Amino acid sequence: MKKMKAALMYGPGDIRYEQVERPCCPEGGFLLKVKAVGLCGSDIRNLLTDSKAGRYPHIYGHEIVGEIVEIDENVTKYQRGQMVYVYPMAHCLRCENCRNGKHECCTEAESYTDLQGGLQSI
Ligand SMILES: [Zn+2]
Ligand SMILES: [Zn+2]
Repeated sequence: MKKMKAALMYGPGDIRYEQVERPCCPEGGFLLKVKAVGLCGSDIRNLLTDSKAGRYPHIYGHEIVGEIVEIDENVTKYQRGQMVYVYPMAHCLRCENCRNGKHECCTEAESYTDLQGGLQSI
């Protein structure tokens, strides 16, 4: 299995730069080489508190820009080499509120802190 580096959070203020398994290109998706990750106020708060309630290690960083380096052959909307910005929240984009441009009122939103973030690079 290929490896890559990531900033893993093990607890409040305990962030370690370590090797982790490199993900495989998902079916119907693509793999990004992270080029930049924004750190906003919520990241700082999350990194300095027990934000994952003991569920560590976790990779934060939800404001991501990256280059598509691998892409599933069935994906036609994007192409290898393209730079993309990752939508920083986990709104469903299907409910009535999302379809009406009021995604902040999404009824099916997941927490982005449940997803692994962008403080990693292949
Ligand atoms: Zn943010
Ligand atoms: Zn929604």
